Amino acid sequence: MEEYLEKFKERTRSEQRWLCEVFEGVRQQLYPLISSSVGLSVEQLTLSVLSKVHRAVGSEVTSLPVSYRFVSLSELTRKQHTPCCCSLTWSSAHYREQARRAEQALPNHRALARDNILLMGYLYDGSAAGASDGGWWVRDAGGAVSCLMVKSSPLWLGRLMLFPTWNYIPQNAPAGGGGYLELIDPPVCVTPEAMTFDPGGSLTEAMSVKRVAELLKQSDRCDTLVCVSGQVSVISPLLLISGRRFFCLILSEGDSAAPVLITEAKHQYWRQCVCVGQYICISTMRVCSLRGWAGHHVLSVTAQSRLHPHVQPQQSSEDPDTHLMDTDSHAPDTHMTSHTASCSTTSVRKKNSTLISYRGLITKVLHAEAGLYEIDGKVGLCLAYQPLQECGGGLRPGAEIQLHNVHFLYRPSPFAPDVILCACLRSSAQVSAFSPLSSKSEVGGSHSPLQRHLLEKNLGVSQYLWLCYCQRVITERLCPRWVRKERVCVVAGRLLDCVCNAEQKTDRKRDIYREMLQEPHLCPVTTYCVSWPCVVLWSVRQLCDWMSSDVWSSLSLSSLVSPAAAHMTCAELNACLSWSVHSVSLTAAHSQPLMLVGVLELNSSHATLQIKDQTQTLDCVCVQTDQSGATTNSNISTAWLGCLVCVQRCTLVMERSMKTNFPSWTHLDQPNYITHKHCRLYLQFCVSDLIIISPSAAMSISLMEKKRDQTDRRETDGDPLRSACVSLIFRLNSKQGVMFRNTSVSADPHTLQMGFMATVLCLGDVQIWNNDPKNRRIQTRETDGPQTTMDLHFGDVCVRWFPVLHPGSVYRLIAHNTEDVSVLKAESISARGGVKLLSNPALLMKHQWRLHTLTHTEQLLDTQSDVGAVMSVSKVLHSSSTSEIVSFYGVICQRITLQEEVGTKPNIQSMTATKDRSVVEEGLKIRLTVQDSESSGHMIQVYVDLSCGPYTPGLLQGATVILQDFQRKVSKACNVYCRSLPISCVTVTGLGSVSSGSGGSKSPPPMMLLGEWASGRTQQCIVGQVKGHIVCVLSLRLQWMCSLCGSAFKQGSCSRGQPPCDSSCSVFQAEAKVAVEDGSGEALVWFSSDTVSELLTLDAVQWEGLQRHARVKGHVRVYTRGHSMMCDVDPEDPLVQFLCCLCSSNTVCRQIKLTCRLRAQRTGKCQLRKVCRGPTEFISKFPPAPQLQCLQIHTDTH
Ligand SMILES: [Zn+2]
Ligand SMILES: [Zn+2]
Repeated sequence: MEEYLEKFKERTRSEQRWLCEVFEGVRQQLYPLISSSVGLSVEQLTLSVLSKVHRAVGSEVTSLPVSYRFVSLSELTRKQHTPCCCSLTWSSAHYREQARRAEQALPNHRALARDNILLMGYLYDGSAAGASDGGWWVRDAGGAVSCLMVKSSPLWLGRLMLFPTWNYIPQNAPAGGGGYLELIDPPVCVTPEAMTFDPGGSLTEAMSVKRVAELLKQSDRCDTLVCVSGQVSVISPLLLISGRRFFCLILSEGDSAAPVLITEAKHQYWRQCVCVGQYICISTMRVCSLRGWAGHHVLSVTAQSRLHPHVQPQQSSEDPDTHLMDTDSHAPDTHMTSHTASCSTTSVRKKNSTLISYRGLITKVLHAEAGLYEIDGKVGLCLAYQPLQECGGGLRPGAEIQLHNVHFLYRPSPFAPDVILCACLRSSAQVSAFSPLSSKSEVGGSHSPLQRHLLEKNLGVSQYLWLCYCQRVITERLCPRWVRKERVCVVAGRLLDCVCNAEQKTDRKRDIYREMLQEPHLCPVTTYCVSWPCVVLWSVRQLCDWMSSDVWSSLSLSSLVSPAAAHMTCAELNACLSWSVHSVSLTAAHSQPLMLVGVLELNSSHATLQIKDQTQTLDCVCVQTDQSGATTNSNISTAWLGCLVCVQRCTLVMERSMKTNFPSWTHLDQPNYITHKHCRLYLQFCVSDLIIISPSAAMSISLMEKKRDQTDRRETDGDPLRSACVSLIFRLNSKQGVMFRNTSVSADPHTLQMGFMATVLCLGDVQIWNNDPKNRRIQTRETDGPQTTMDLHFGDVCVRWFPVLHPGSVYRLIAHNTEDVSVLKAESISARGGVKLLSNPALLMKHQWRLHTLTHTEQLLDTQSDVGAVMSVSKVLHSSSTSEIVSFYGVICQRITLQEEVGTKPNIQSMTATKDRSVVEEGLKIRLTVQDSESSGHMIQVYVDLSCGPYTPGLLQGATVILQDFQRKVSKACNVYCRSLPISCVTVTGLGSVSSGSGGSKSPPPMMLLGEWASGRTQQCIVGQVKGHIVCVLSLRLQWMCSLCGSAFKQGSCSRGQPPCDSSCSVFQAEAKVAVEDGSGEALVWFSSDTVSELLTLDAVQWEGLQRHARVKGHVRVYTRGHSMMCDVDPEDPLVQFLCCLCSSNTVCRQIKLTCRLRAQRTGKCQLRKVCRGPTEFISKFPPAPQLQCLQIHTDTH
């Protein structure tokens, strides 16, 4: 050391200190590595290092580079946690300029920070350490780090090197996997003597590629040793197959090609020394045949083989093959042969790709794990078909990449850039300039599940790109809450199975040698599907956002009101607008097919089923496909809860509620009359349209038991986790609707809680279990005990069970972590003051208890007697013996929001003020017209108060519903109707069709004879069609009314005096009463405003003219007296004369076909009338003529 310092006597103290540090570093880290044969002392080695450093820094500089500190490799990997760059040769200005330019090119990235480090080490290929993976390493006495080079020379191996310019990229793997070096400038050999590299073998007998190709064609002489020289046209990536690592390259000359297989472990490092376009010479190779590529011979390197980089005959810096594409002006079909393959469901267009070379700048890592990158801001690069590059292969944003023999694909998937370059086993992707930018290190593990799936399922590029898209969205929306990270790819794979059917998958076995070596080239990327699969996965939030915007953009006020709107008063019109529904099928929501993936759960605040992901939650109405609606046993069960499902077919329902004050229909184009609007969004689907992607535990049991039914019935043990619980089996007899109730559990007696009660039949005694039986098959001991009836109360969050409880179904109630059977024992409600209550024993459902729907319960259901009978609509209408409380089913054909009665506040307003406003709509009462699902002429009006419980979605036109526990009433006009009670419950069991828009009655109402209708003997239809003759118009009234108050409107102002009305808005109304006869009997038919013009056969212009004339007088009424028509006032008025004349003309009194509704179901007594037959007079008893309201006039009278 002293001798060494002696040489630098004149240096400053700090320089001497630096010299000591370098000396120490060399002594500790480098000297132990050089063999004694070199015969160097530590001092000599240090001096040699110093001279190399000096030369690298620049000869004109005399001072020592004291700012550079000697760092050992172990220290570098241990302490350097951020990426950095280092260069002995760059000036600060040069670094700044380069950093500025790089940051300008990719503004989202920062340049690598510069550090001043002296880095030296022994360059080796890892074969010495027994891990020959083709990678290069730098080693010193304390550690090693892998390195990448743009171009390397076999001459550098085994040398002690100084690295003048390099990047260090730490890998922040949890295992502390160190990082890697990107060596930018060629390394400088530190050991002074210039060792001559002896490649061995002679090059004189090198054969041309043409000759070798001939030899390979005819050769069965596998013992020949060959030396060949030629240009490299193909380099495959390094492959590891059944423990053997190898790569291959093809040398070409004209049309001839010579494939070379490099299987020798000690030659794997050649992979980094050769590149496409380079001339090389390889000696001592054997000709051999490949088992995987029958009938073909290849060259295989031997242990004695040597690689000689050649001087290239025509040296050019730019590879002649490299395209620089302009993707914008790219005509997609110009150089590709395309054909359309017909598939069973959709027509998927297939294309052939072409092989190209390309050079570009990596601008983005699209998906590191999937091997997807973006080049030049527009071209996608897919490396998934190659084995993953070590350390990400320097594929960082800002790196320049050189691609050879990659497949050019145009629009393989809508979820990737238009142009995708896909590398296969014949392609090489080589970084040609390392990135000066720092980026988050994203390195996929060497066995990314996506790429494993690609290999296992032999996916095409288009399918793989969709899989990557799917994997990304599943991770975002469902991981880790419902899908574990390691399961994401499995789930994505199942979704891929949903969108592709079997025949769209390639089953061809892959043959790697063929893919790499055969001409013409054929691999899984050769053909691809154009933009397929194109199924878009929307998150629940995206769907909700779309619905909330579409619900209002689709709003057309004029289409919400019927043609009769022109004659409606202000109140009638605004009532019409207060509620409307807009439903769209999922397939119509987007130009591409849509799919929704989410988890089914129960919503405790809405008492509904819901689908959710990590972005949002959406309520659902779920029914069985069976539209009849009479049975609910096969409805959605508890096993569905927690299932991850995929929905491809469903209806998006958007209910609109608006508060408006439009004065008349002419103002509908002015949206400022809408004072308040709000919408409810939910989905409607059938259970059979749900595809299970990942089943819940209960669903797995259910599916397993179904399978076991077909094979044997071995009882499997439950969960390995032992936890005692008690259970009770019951059948649900009936359930009430959810409403706000006073419950004893709530602390504050004035707050109401949601709740409902169900009456159940316990099928046995409470049982104790070691393991949770969930929904497993019923054991005999469970049903041994006596059957008792009890009331099960659901309060607060337990109301969530409401949607999965169906009368007639059997359930197992489970209380966990207890062996006390008394917790599930129902108690008789204690009688107060000696009064005995006549109610069933009751049990209050606890929130931690679970319910499971049980299947295979047929043997238990021999007696359904206690399950409430559900009637049809006509039975409710006509049975005189029906009790006052009825349950029935039918199809909704009309829904009307009832006007809020002025002055009546909802009873429970104060109690619900704090509740979620979207759950309860205060004072909301609706009238449903429910049609018999079998006979369309029978319908009943049902008044439902929706304000005493959570909102019931799905009460739409066309929906089949079961109405349980409604009160049957008869009106003054003898019409039967129903109204809801607090215990009433409405269940949607069938969905109306979306496409038709209106849904409702598909079959027209029945044809009726008036005599029959009048008699009332048969079951009366409420609505029917009549074909008859208009005998005469009994009366016709035309009037202008104030749209606000309904008073007569004269000379442009309202005639109301007390108090005066200043409304300037009027509506025209007309009413006609007509006698119609059809041979069997007679009827009085009322026509209202919109049907009067048709009755009078007036066209639009004439009708308007009539209205204009009527405006002057405000009111005109003509009626029949005797055989003529007359008017009380002003009989000479031309308008009156015209009307009288028209009404008695043959144009009006004609054959006509009408759809009518009975105005009153039962009319008064029979009439006695005189009938003349010839000279004889009879007195006969006639039933009263039915009073009908015309709903529609049919133009064809046949
Ligand atoms: Zn290929
Ligand atoms: Zn008025």
